[in-house]
Amino acid sequence: MKKGKLIVISGPSGVGKSTAIHGLMERCPGMYFSVSATTREPRPDEQEGVSYWFKTRQEFQSMITEDAFYEYAEYSGNYYGTPKAPVEERLRQGIDVILDIEPQGAMNVKRLCPEAILVFLTAKDFSIIEARLRGRGDTDEAAITKRLKQARWEYTQAPRYDYIVVNDTPARTVEDIYCILTASKLRAADNLDLLKMEESL
Ligand code: 5GP
Repeated sequence: MKKGKLIVISGPSGVGKSTAIHGLMERCPGMYFSVSATTREPRPDEQEGVSYWFKTRQEFQSMITEDAFYEYAEYSGNYYGTPKAPVEERLRQGIDVILDIEPQGAMNVKRLCPEAILVFLTAKDFSIIEARLRGRGDTDEAAITKRLKQARWEYTQAPRYDYIVVNDTPARTVEDIYCILTASKLRAADNLDLLKMEESL
């Protein structure tokens, strides 16, 4: 059986990653979204085991010691990590897995799994990111400045990805990522078994 594809989506806060991922999951029934563990506090609308597995620093540290992460990184003062066992199990079963992770984690995934598909989601121009970050009801200018700095750093990492997708309209974005995934499954190197020749030839 062919292994599932590992697809990584990154992009700055406010670019629309969650909407794109939801759309892609609808377009690809059976795809597995990896729920990360994090040490950050839950936001009001977030549910344990759906958005994240919320952990204390000590719990997260124990998971690191137990080698329970596929990858993990520190981002904006908190730890985030992809639980290893569920991802590896799905890939073995031929199920495609999608990760929503930041660039340090994405680069670690590429090292571990060179055939992973890395997609960087961007806005048409940076002012859109800025407007979305400001529109989130956060009036704390220092917090906004910090997020903008983080977003600028993330943009500098985009050339290291396999694909850059402009999040223009949600439907278009989903279609673009779907096409990337489809094309990756058609790569010759992964499909040489299809070239069986008749014995008479
Ligand atoms: P937020 O706190 O806004 O939910 O996420 C902050 C950042 O952490 C986002 O860029 C998100 O993609 C990233 N992130 C979420 N889960 C993981 C993970 O398991 N590993 C890594 N490296 N980054 C993650």
